[in-house]
Amino acid sequence: MELHKLLQRQIRKFLPPDAINHTECSSFLKAISDSYYAYERDQELSNHAFALSEQEFHKLNGTLKKEVETRNISLEKLKEIVYTNNPSYTPSSNDDLISITEFVKNISEKQTLLEIESNKNIKRITSLIGNLNSGVLFENEDRGILFTNNIFCRMFGIPVAPEMLTGLDCSESAEQSKVLFANPEGFVQRIHELLLKKEQVLGDILELKDGRIFERDFVPVFMDEVYKGHLWNYTDITQRQRTQNALIESETKNRLIMNAAMDAIITIDRNGAITFWNPQAEKIFGWTEAEALNQPLVNLIVPSTHRDRHEKGMFNYKKTGEGSVLRKIMEFPALHKSGTEFPIEISVTPIHFDGETFFCAFIRDISKRKKVEQALATSEQKYRSIIANMNLGLLEVDKDDNVQFCNQSFEQISGYTLAEMHGKPAGQLFMDDEHLRILKEKNQLRMDGVYDSYEMSVRNKSGAQRWWLISGAPNYDEKGANKGSIGIHLDITEEKRLKHELEIALQKAQEASKAKESFLANMSHEIRTPLNAIIGMIRELGREELTPKQNSYLSHSETSAKHLLSIVNNILDMSRIEAGELILEKKEFSLSAVINMAHSILFVKAREKGLMLRFHNTPEIKTALIGDGGRIRQILINLIGNAIKFTNQGTVCVKLRRPSECQWAIEVVDTGSGIPSEARSIIFEPFRQLGNENQGKRNGYGLGLAIVYQLAKLMDGEVFVESEVGRGSTFTILLPLEMNALEPQMRKPLHGST
Ligand code: ADP
Repeated sequence: MELHKLLQRQIRKFLPPDAINHTECSSFLKAISDSYYAYERDQELSNHAFALSEQEFHKLNGTLKKEVETRNISLEKLKEIVYTNNPSYTPSSNDDLISITEFVKNISEKQTLLEIESNKNIKRITSLIGNLNSGVLFENEDRGILFTNNIFCRMFGIPVAPEMLTGLDCSESAEQSKVLFANPEGFVQRIHELLLKKEQVLGDILELKDGRIFERDFVPVFMDEVYKGHLWNYTDITQRQRTQNALIESETKNRLIMNAAMDAIITIDRNGAITFWNPQAEKIFGWTEAEALNQPLVNLIVPSTHRDRHEKGMFNYKKTGEGSVLRKIMEFPALHKSGTEFPIEISVTPIHFDGETFFCAFIRDISKRKKVEQALATSEQKYRSIIANMNLGLLEVDKDDNVQFCNQSFEQISGYTLAEMHGKPAGQLFMDDEHLRILKEKNQLRMDGVYDSYEMSVRNKSGAQRWWLISGAPNYDEKGANKGSIGIHLDITEEKRLKHELEIALQKAQEASKAKESFLANMSHEIRTPLNAIIGMIRELGREELTPKQNSYLSHSETSAKHLLSIVNNILDMSRIEAGELILEKKEFSLSAVINMAHSILFVKAREKGLMLRFHNTPEIKTALIGDGGRIRQILINLIGNAIKFTNQGTVCVKLRRPSECQWAIEVVDTGSGIPSEARSIIFEPFRQLGNENQGKRNGYGLGLAIVYQLAKLMDGEVFVESEVGRGSTFTILLPLEMNALEPQMRKPLHGST
């Protein structure tokens, strides 16, 4: 074969012609020419292959481009999905598939872990519900039982294992178990209501017939907003409810007690803020509960002068757990809302409860007590000084009568000093045996709390006999225990002597008066007998033939003798009355006859003075009465006689009234001189007359009205006078007089006097 042209050119250029013919060289050149041809063939082949590859590359490139686009779209979508499901992931333009894949891979690993965990949890929850202390019933949307537990079965008395109930239909369960409940229809109705509304309801309270109380929760279960069933959770709260009720009851009771307490009850927390404030606290301090709660106690009731002390006390308690004012009754000044200070008695107790400490204060307003104490102290002081000034001896002895204390006055009246008497029995110091017995009795009375006063004869230190007036009283200590007695002693020796002398004088006077009365009575009696004889003789003499002169002498003698007899009679009556010797008669008499007799005796006298003497009676005057008609006539003669005596012109009138069934009133009315008011009470005393000019010459001796008064008194009646000076007087005598019970036809004729 011909050598390669390029090699031929190079041979021509570089090799001698003979060299080409050389055998060895020609084979070498042939080898080179072959390699040239081989190279060219390879070149061709390579170019052809390259052209072919280029075509394929273009095709491939188009395919790849499409793939990349699709991949990018997918990548974006993937990012979006990842972002939507995992907000923690933040998409970025740099994210490639690997990083997203990495992220997704992480999530997926986590989710796998969660699923494993979740499965474990479901198992745990199931076992937890199984062991729960409440009855649980899980139903699906068709009321098929998914799950229940032992407690539920026990609570509703279902006698099978809970697993056996799974799958059972519950739609009739309310009707079946309603009998257990106190309000069966209410129970069924409420279940329907809950199932209808499908809203979570917690804490329904159900009362059972047997007294148990259940609390029920209803929890509907939704998945993706689709109702998947519901859970019933029943808890037996009988015990809790009872405890709670007991607690509420006891709390209410405590609160009521605290509110009704007479003391203010306040509680404060550790920081001094008020946590309880009862109505009495409102009353005492003026702040209402609403105003006081949560306020610092110190600002409300502690006066500014005591605030530091209070704060220090609280601080000290926090530090040491001790407080000088705790658990004691103390007195402090307190502050009222109005700003005024007043005294209180307070006791504060720290209370530890539920790991907390608070303070409870019982407070009493002692303003009144303080005032009373103050008043007492003042009055004690006053009486002490009165006793000191009155020279009254004060002596205190213990239960055994031993002298404990005496004042200076007692030292003076007894003659002993306190030092000499102290500890010695008082009785033995001053009294003899007889009086000691009395003293013992008195000391016993003091032990029984009895006070009294008595007089006692004693001997003082010098042995002289003295009389003491002793006012003894039990003596109490501050706690109210009887510790002996206390006595106030007044030396009455002088008074005793005077009293004794007076008694003797009185006795003598009484004896003298008696002697006088008996003398008067005797003398009147002695005078009356001859006087009656004189009057009798005068009457006899009057029947003789006498000259007018002799007649005139005789008439004067008779008037004087009668006057004298009336005086003597009155004196005798008065003496008898005073001596209690006048006895009244109790016989039937006619009041009308009595009045008529008095009228006829005094009629002439009245006419002599130119006066009218009138008599107004009452229809019952004819009735027979029981009493002393003679003494009633004497009363009337005295009253009518006085009326005529003290009346110069006009009328004297006697009126009879009957104010009540058994009472008679006789009024003697005149138009005479009258009696001044100041004299009206004394005219009924013996020998009392008025020195009245109107009444002219005295013609009497002041015994008439005294006898009237005494006689009325003896008859259980009364006499009184109404009068006006210059216009006249009315004397009224009221007498209780019984009527005779005998029939009128059986009666004897009535007499004015018996
Ligand atoms: P006597 O009339 O004897 O003085 P009495 O005891 O009867 O004593 O009366 C006492 C006094 O009462 C009289 O002195 C007289 O002053 C006054 N007196 C009594 N009755 C009347 C009367 N009817 N009118 C005015 N004064 C009377």
